[in-house]
Amino acid sequence: MARCLYGALPALFALAMLPSGAPASAQGAGVYWQAGAGGGAAHGLKILSGGDGIWRATSAGGAPAVAIVKPGSNYLYFALDPAREKPSAPVYVSVLYFDAGVSGGLILEYDSTAGDRLVDRYRPAEDAVGGGMLGTGKWRAARFRLSRPLFQHRQNNGADLRLTASGPLTIASVRIGGNRPADWDAVARESRANVKALVHIGPGGEFIVGGFDPPSKEGAAGAVHALEQALPALKSLGVTSHEGYVRWGLCEPQEGRFDWSVYDPFVRVYKRAGLKWVPFIILGSAYSLPDWYFKKPGSQGYVCLEHNQETHVQSLWNPDLRKRVARFLAAFCDHYRDSGVIESILLGITGNYGEAIYPVTGNDWTADVHGPYHTHPGYWCGDHFAADSFKAWLVRRYGGGGPLRDAWGDSIGSIEDAHPFLRANAPNDRAWLDMVSWYIDSMTQWARFWLKTTREHFPQGEIYLCTGGDAPPWHGSDFGAQCKAAAEVHGGVRITNESSDYAANWSLTRWVASAGKQYGAYYSFEPAGNVDPNGVIARIYGATSSGAHGLHYYYPNLFDTAAARDNFVKWGRAFKQRKPVVEIAVYYPETWIKLHGQVPLGSYQPLRDRFDFDYMSDGMILDGGLGHIKALILMGGDVSERKVWDAIGTWVKRGGLLLAANGMGTLRTPEGDAAPNEELLGAGVDHGAGRVALFNGGPYAREYRDFLASELGHAPELSVETRRMVTADGKEDGCYVTLCAPNELLWLNATDHPVAKNGVTIQAHSISSQRIRAMAP
Ligand SMILES: [Zn+2]
Repeated sequence: MARCLYGALPALFALAMLPSGAPASAQGAGVYWQAGAGGGAAHGLKILSGGDGIWRATSAGGAPAVAIVKPGSNYLYFALDPAREKPSAPVYVSVLYFDAGVSGGLILEYDSTAGDRLVDRYRPAEDAVGGGMLGTGKWRAARFRLSRPLFQHRQNNGADLRLTASGPLTIASVRIGGNRPADWDAVARESRANVKALVHIGPGGEFIVGGFDPPSKEGAAGAVHALEQALPALKSLGVTSHEGYVRWGLCEPQEGRFDWSVYDPFVRVYKRAGLKWVPFIILGSAYSLPDWYFKKPGSQGYVCLEHNQETHVQSLWNPDLRKRVARFLAAFCDHYRDSGVIESILLGITGNYGEAIYPVTGNDWTADVHGPYHTHPGYWCGDHFAADSFKAWLVRRYGGGGPLRDAWGDSIGSIEDAHPFLRANAPNDRAWLDMVSWYIDSMTQWARFWLKTTREHFPQGEIYLCTGGDAPPWHGSDFGAQCKAAAEVHGGVRITNESSDYAANWSLTRWVASAGKQYGAYYSFEPAGNVDPNGVIARIYGATSSGAHGLHYYYPNLFDTAAARDNFVKWGRAFKQRKPVVEIAVYYPETWIKLHGQVPLGSYQPLRDRFDFDYMSDGMILDGGLGHIKALILMGGDVSERKVWDAIGTWVKRGGLLLAANGMGTLRTPEGDAAPNEELLGAGVDHGAGRVALFNGGPYAREYRDFLASELGHAPELSVETRRMVTADGKEDGCYVTLCAPNELLWLNATDHPVAKNGVTIQAHSISSQRIRAMAP
């Protein structure tokens, strides 16, 4: 659940190839530096070395050059000779650089007259052409305009300007002049002309890249500059949109006065580049709060039950926050609704990072505005608004003290006495289920409010709810209910918990994918942080084989290493809008999870290695989700509500195949009624048109998975294609299969060696599509 926020990164640009393909001489009149023996020749401009700016002499394309020594250094620093007369503004800088690989483009930061702050000494160039890194293996030109140069040597090493890029940076010359370079427009044209799309994702898909986020108004210009320089690389990879964190505090600097000057420049960049925007709107998380709201009258942070301490993240039960959210969403949509650049609006409704979960972690970059805050996994419902909500929920459920005592026991006097409590203080299991159900329902209702309000002001276009984590009860997330709420407004869900391992990613995102399909909500997947190069492939497979509408990477996931970028270039086209055919589900035991903490999601992963299946939670079952499932597997979770067991029993009688392990415990209700065990699994029970296949052993045993693969490979309840899917794989070998319409087996080999499967050899870390002929049953 730890969403990463990568700051503005060294970025890239358009590339302009010199006609000769070789470095032009920088000699002649003016102020310049040119690479050569001993670091080159300074003509009023010298290259400096030290600190984060160590360079080495090298050559590239047959010409002398200098390169940043990486890792360790990130910049090339330059200083004007103090004896030289300072050029008057504006100043133009021309750079000749070697375009060695696809990565972030050339960025220039200079010492400016804007003020005394650190950002004023590293001000990004106001305008630039060229500078893109697209791997042409040629010398290229970049041109920058500096509107407010100071030349008082206030940068590191006593420099006046510095150059950087996210990848390797090798340059041959830098020239400073007072006139706009005559080739400015030509460089711009060549930059655009040289962007070749290396990847075309399938039609209808969304390929979103995050990064370049300003933490402050002062940081906005640098973030915009970095994004603009990165555009050629982003476009070459087929990116459809940029996702940016829209912080409340950067948009409403004074109460009631909206100021869009941080985000408007981004929109201008999108329009110029033909890129879409995913504004990620965050109110309530600590880093989003305006100074005028933070800890001021009317605000209310969540209060934990564990320590009765308030955190900076704002309580969703506070009615004042609800008003602020409604007003902000209206103002944002009024300003940007018709901008033509929005791919989707992403809603960051609460939590440490802007997800549909309560505080869990934090005190990382999320403390960058208001400082460290009290945070941990726990129950954050200790404020008086929460207590009022809990009582109102109990009144709706029980009506009065009598029925409440019937359910909770006599230790509770009346509803008025009921305050949110921890598990250890729960009068009984029913009381705890009520407490957790209210806690989770509060999050779902908060999500519903955000979704509906946004839809009122954004009637056309996509809206995603951002969620994350792995849904233990203290997170407050029911991904099924969140998908249902999103579908009500023709919205979707973005889940932000992926890493590099396919099986782990699958186990974390599958609830969203299953519920999204059931309720009709679209969905997209995002990593929580780092993704390794093979993880780039695993995530493409995960998205396309789950029917995800969108796939998100943070910029460094793709551009920090050549291997990651190359893997996306090779496999990105596999991200198509597929339709997975899933007839098998594993029961996702929500009630058991509420009582016991968390289901062992890792224990589902080896089963996924054998064949593909969905999750089916209590709420999904009660909403009729079994209707499109032909086989249901019980693994963990022997406690559920009577109506859930009944719905499963009814579905079996209508022809469903239920598979269970008798070692999983006695199926029962929270009150201990074990009748469901006999009704579902008892010997000699009449199951009507369906049947029950019972394994003699524990639910997490390998032998149970052998049993499931064997049963399902021959189950007449399943379509012949699904049975083929099961029998084609069926093994726990790091090779995964999904059945997609029509008649496609889609494979992922996540191992380091080739694997033979179903008559084909699948190379290490690769995706393979195999057509199967429809067969008679
Ligand atoms: Zn606490």
